[in-house]
Amino acid sequence: MILMKDIYKTYDNGVTALNGINVEIDQGEFVYVVGPSGAGKSTFIKLMYREVKPSKGKLIINNKDLTDLKEKEVPLLRRQIGVIFQDFKLLSRLTVYENIAFALEVINESPRNIRKRVMDVLELVGLKNKARFIPSELSGGEQQRVSIARAIVNHPKLVIADEPTGNLDPDTSWEIMKVFEEINARGTTIVMATHSKEIVNTIKRRVIAIEDGRIVRDQHRGDYGYEI
Ligand code: ADP
Ligand code: ADP
Repeated sequence: MILMKDIYKTYDNGVTALNGINVEIDQGEFVYVVGPSGAGKSTFIKLMYREVKPSKGKLIINNKDLTDLKEKEVPLLRRQIGVIFQDFKLLSRLTVYENIAFALEVINESPRNIRKRVMDVLELVGLKNKARFIPSELSGGEQQRVSIARAIVNHPKLVIADEPTGNLDPDTSWEIMKVFEEINARGTTIVMATHSKEIVNTIKRRVIAIEDGRIVRDQHRGDYGYEI
C-alpha cells in the first residue's frame, strides 16, 4: 500500500535529505522509523502526506500513485491519512470535541452522526469525560490522545506519527503506545518516527533505520540499534 522506488529529495538550499529510498509497507503493518537527527526521517514521513514532494522517484500511498498528483488532489489524499505530531498541533480556542469534529470535514453528515463519531473516538482514547475541555486544561498525554482521536476519526487506512511521544514522560508515552497498538489491531497501518529506544525494544515491530538519507537497516521485529 506504500511503495517508494528510488526516491530522492533535495531541498531548495541544495541539501539532499533522501538519497535513493526503496521500501514497501503493507496494509496493517506497524513500522518504526529510527536514525540520528538530520538523517531524513521527517522528510521520509512528510513525503507520505505530501508536505514534501520527491525530487525524483516513484511514490505510491494508499495504492495511489503520487507521481503526477495535482495540487487540487492533495486535500483528498490528506483526508485518507491521519497525521500525529510531537507538539500535538491542536486548535487552542476550540474544545476537545470541536477539535475532532472540525477534522471530520463532513459537510454531508448529520450533526447526530458527527456527534456519534466524535464520542466513539473519544471513548477509544479514553477522553469521553473531557469533551468540553480546551487543550490548555489537559495534560500533555491527554492532548496527544486528542490529536490521535482527530487523526483517526475519519477511519484512515494509514496513520503517520512524527515523534508522538517526544514531549511526554515515560508513563504517558506507554499509554499513547497502547492507543497506537489498538488502532493497529483494527487494521490501520502505522508509520512512526521515534527516538525512544525503550519503546522500540519493548514493543517489537518492523524497524527501518535511516542514515544520511538512505535505509541502512530494515528488520522484522527489530531493535532500536542506537545507544540513545
Ligand atoms: P530527521 O527527521 O531525521 O532529523 P530531516 O528529514 O528533518 O531529518 O532532515 C534531513 C536533512 O534535510 C537535514 O540535513 C535537514 O537540515 C534538511 N532539511 C530538512 N527540512 C529542510 C527544509 N525545509 N529545507 C532545507 N533543508 C531541510
Ligand atoms: P462507525 O463507522 O459506525 O463508526 P466502525 O465499525 O467503523 O463504525 O467503528 C466503530 C468504532 O471503531 C468507532 O469507535 C470508530 O471510531 C473505531 N474505528 C473504526 N475504524 C477505525 C480505525 N481504522 N482506526 C481507529 N478506530 C477505528
